[in-house]
Amino acid sequence: MPELPEMEAWRRQLDEPVRAFPIAKAGPAHVATLKTFDPPLSALEGRRFEGARRRAKRLYFPTDDGELVLLVHLMTAGRLKYLRAGEKGPKAPAFRLEFEGGAQLVLTEAGSKKRAGVWLLTPEQAEAELAHLGPDALGLGADALGEICAREPRRLHSLLRDQRVIAGIGRAWANEILHHARLSPYALARDLNPEQVERLAQSIDVELERGLELRERGANDKRTYRVHDKLHEPCYVCGTPIARVDFEEHTIYYCPECQTGGRVLKDRRLSRLLR
Ligand SMILES: [Zn+2]
Repeated sequence: MPELPEMEAWRRQLDEPVRAFPIAKAGPAHVATLKTFDPPLSALEGRRFEGARRRAKRLYFPTDDGELVLLVHLMTAGRLKYLRAGEKGPKAPAFRLEFEGGAQLVLTEAGSKKRAGVWLLTPEQAEAELAHLGPDALGLGADALGEICAREPRRLHSLLRDQRVIAGIGRAWANEILHHARLSPYALARDLNPEQVERLAQSIDVELERGLELRERGANDKRTYRVHDKLHEPCYVCGTPIARVDFEEHTIYYCPECQTGGRVLKDRRLSRLLR
């Protein structure tokens, strides 16, 4: 699933083009993709977006009259693309929006399962829809992270991925961040000392910024990740082969030398006990 760096790179790419022209036609949308029916999509027509915004892993597009917000959640396989006038696009996208002059914004989704969603909301509804999300991971800082860790008995990998606590990090960037911070994915948040909290806060920013920069240059997963999905490849710090362990529904990648003092993590599936 695209996470904060990927979504932020897309947001920056879309910010200018989406406000260049008023909307000529909104829709059609796949029945499983469009999550709202009132206001209807046609309410967008004739209005102009104020730009592209991001909250956690979601993108949203407020209209410049302050009346409506188009919210998009791409989930795992959704992709949002801006097509210039005359540029060829997919035949049957999950959602299509046409601007005056012929440019288009299209949402496609690989595979047969339709999980990505589009919502047309009032600003109040959009706020309510996003209210459950924690503070954005990028720029969170050691003070806020310290407060979060102090009240959380959970393991770091699971904590970092919980959008209600910290928004924007998923399993791939949790792997990258914890490796950079030299912390075990199984370490309990509450047990971190101030120096470790500081290091984790720095690693969140350093790694998300690194990802954002690479994604803005169009780097693929293979080039972007250094730990995630790199089983048996040498750790970029110490050369030890990257290891893997299953935890909850996720697969964690880590360096046993840099992160767990040489210990190999066992699949303990403690999530139920820790809730
Ligand atoms: Zn290492």
